[in-house]
Amino acid sequence: MGCVFCRIVSKEAPARMVYEDEAFVAFHDIRPKAPVHVLVVPKVHVATLSDYPDTEEGERALGALFRTANRVARTLGLRGYRLTVNVGEEGGQEVFHVHVHIMGWPR
Ligand code: AMP
Ligand code: ZN
Repeated sequence: MGCVFCRIVSKEAPARMVYEDEAFVAFHDIRPKAPVHVLVVPKVHVATLSDYPDTEEGERALGALFRTANRVARTLGLRGYRLTVNVGEEGGQEVFHVHVHIMGWPR
């Protein structure tokens, strides 16, 4: 499969990892758009945020994604940060494997 984030999850492609658990990885964006720019990525391939079903299962997946993004952001010791998800080509999404951008400003 040609998904770059799946290759990072499986360690076939390199990344500057900052976090990993059983369900997520987080690594530095290769083209940072803020002083600290980290991507939080579920290990299971889901193309885009709007593919999560509008069900309790979808709610759990979204909750886990944002809980993890918040946890990673806290461990980065930032003064403030922004969480962004781009959804669809028109929404600015370039990599079609769900990810939350953490864009932050260090202390
Ligand atoms: P989006 O536009 O929301 O799909 O964001 C995709 C992000 O992934 C961009 O900020 C890219 O710089 C970043 N990106 C693409 N390929 C890699 C890679 N191999 N390692 C780290 N970040 C990447
Ligand atoms: Zn993928």
